[in-house]
Amino acid sequence: MITTRRSILASFAAAASGAPLAFAQSDAPAIIPKNPNYKRIACEEAWTTREIADEYGRFIASNPADEPGFMALGARYYARGADSPILASMLDLGEGRIAAMNRFGIDMQLLLLTAPGVQVFSADTGTALAANSNDQLVEAISKHPTRFAGLAAVAPQDPRRAALEIERSVGTLGLKGVVINSHTKGEFLDDEKFWELLEAAEANNAPIYIHPRNPAPAMLEPYLSRRLEAGILGFTADVALHTIALITSGAFDRFPKLKLVIGHGGEGIPYMLYRIDYMQRVVREGRGLKKLKKRPSDYFKDNIYITSSGMAWEPAIRFAHQTLGVDRVIYAMDYPYQADASEVVALDNMAISDADKKQFFQSNAEKLFSL
Ligand code: MN
Repeated sequence: MITTRRSILASFAAAASGAPLAFAQSDAPAIIPKNPNYKRIACEEAWTTREIADEYGRFIASNPADEPGFMALGARYYARGADSPILASMLDLGEGRIAAMNRFGIDMQLLLLTAPGVQVFSADTGTALAANSNDQLVEAISKHPTRFAGLAAVAPQDPRRAALEIERSVGTLGLKGVVINSHTKGEFLDDEKFWELLEAAEANNAPIYIHPRNPAPAMLEPYLSRRLEAGILGFTADVALHTIALITSGAFDRFPKLKLVIGHGGEGIPYMLYRIDYMQRVVREGRGLKKLKKRPSDYFKDNIYITSSGMAWEPAIRFAHQTLGVDRVIYAMDYPYQADASEVVALDNMAISDADKKQFFQSNAEKLFSL
């Protein structure tokens, strides 16, 4: 039996065809059938382990002063003993998740250890829990190899051991890249102390997916005091800073084959590329920005991929197609945080060619993540 649900998504789709951006509503079926023309491979899908969830609980109970962003967000999901439905969904790497994928018409999920990963813990605890999570992920994938693939978690707190874990989990165990949940204790990957990790990612052909978390402590307060710290703005602010800082640090001159992935339509950066190029050129001499081999937008087009997680919005996707290229934009749902059948329908119905749609939903992910 097909039931329907209301959504505002159709209004955004309508905007792409020239209609005004109004909050019109559409219907989406409760069960989305498979699409005969392409697989839907969702590439920013969250999971975690029981061990990490329990460690979050202990961490929150210790009331750590150096993780105000996690304390503002994590307590909602990981307060000791209080499992949320979202957490239950993330812990499920078996039949429950597959049933949800079947309802949403998702052929495959690329699994990422949910934010903030192990990056809030001590180096020893984080390194051990990352390796344990990668082992559990590999086991789940081996049981459902056509439905699941995954990225490795690492603890950047110890860059040397993080690099070794990339070699082990990607090079040996076959995970498809690395997830970094943005800043680690307020520090970003543009700091050269982390570049051993970047070097290992490049050497193992492992794309690094920079996933959001609440902003770094030094930039958190103005967001938190307005309750704008999370998906509405803070996540984007943190990952946009992280990404542009990596570009302007010269990391892609040092590691020219390094691949980065960012979600949420590219965290606003595609729309800003003209201005970023202009300002990087104008201010770099006087204000200490490095001289780079290429324009910032060139690195964005050559080294960076974006996904549609949380941004099932045709105008943004078509803009990215136009500015970055059809081969750079990849489907993601953001299960279980933003799991909405009407978004799948809206993206299926985008007014782009069948070939471009297959690249978006399937082929780009297969190529980038060697699926
Ligand atoms: Mn996400």
